[in-house]
Amino acid sequence: MENDQIIKLWEEFAEGKDFKLNPDTKIVQALAEGVLKNEKNKGFRFCPCRLGDGSHEKNVDLLCPCNFIIHSTWKDKGRCWCGLFVKRE
Ligand code: SF4
Repeated sequence: MENDQIIKLWEEFAEGKDFKLNPDTKIVQALAEGVLKNEKNKGFRFCPCRLGDGSHEKNVDLLCPCNFIIHSTWKDKGRCWCGLFVKRE
């Protein structure tokens, strides 16, 4: 999968929700590269900015897109931990 393809999937994921992709395309491109690199090296689309402890439970938490509305960054800054998704204004 290429960057543009996963970005399109993320856009579709955010459709009709109260968040959208970060309008800063450099951030989105960098995260797409990170997620796809993890998929290639680790077999799953893990979040590029967060570390797991190797447990199944933690690994599930790290699959991107994750359940970021539980993150403090969502409550405090209106964005997922990495800044891939931001609140719609
Ligand atoms: S914090 Fe953002 S980039 Fe990281 S897994 Fe969650 S949605 Fe993806």
